[in-house]
Order: sequence, then structure tokens, then C-alpha cells
Amino acid sequence: MKKKFKVLINNKWCKCCSLCIKFCPVKNLTMTEQGVKDSGKCIGCKLCERYCPDFAIEVQEIKK
Ligand code: SF4
Ligand code: SF4
Repeated sequence: MKKKFKVLINNKWCKCCSLCIKFCPVKNLTMTEQGVKDSGKCIGCKLCERYCPDFAIEVQEIKK
């Protein structure tokens, strides 16, 4: 079964630099009025988590 992931954004730490959006290979992340939004297409590569300069991202596997 294909794994699914969710991207948790800590809005208190996020400075809206958009780096995570640029790095995401599947364009899962978008910037909205409320901050970075997860579109549900995450493949779990964790590039966004690694490159966020403010440690505001946590990628979690969704367990059934
Ligand atoms: S890289 Fe981090 S600080 Fe920058 S927009 Fe994404 S979550 Fe926010
Ligand atoms: S873990 Fe990878 S696929 Fe998922 S949102 Fe971050 S950069 Fe995109």
C-alpha cells in the first residue's frame, strides 16, 4: 500500500519565506493568507522539513 503523509506547519515559527514551496518536487505546498497550505499530495521526501530555515515543518506519515 502506498504511504500517505501530512505536512504540519508551525505558524508561530514560519516566516513565510516560501523556500519549502520552491523545494517541493510535487508542488504540494502553497502560500495562502493563513500561511503555508498542505494540498494532500505529499510523497514524504522531507525536503521541505530539511530546508525550512525556521524549523517550522514536520512531515508525518499518516497511519491507518
Ligand atoms: S520554509 Fe519554513 S519558514 Fe519558509 S515558508 Fe516554508 S514553513 Fe515557512
Ligand atoms: S515532504 Fe517532500 S513532497 Fe512532502 S511537502 Fe515536503 S517537499 Fe513536498
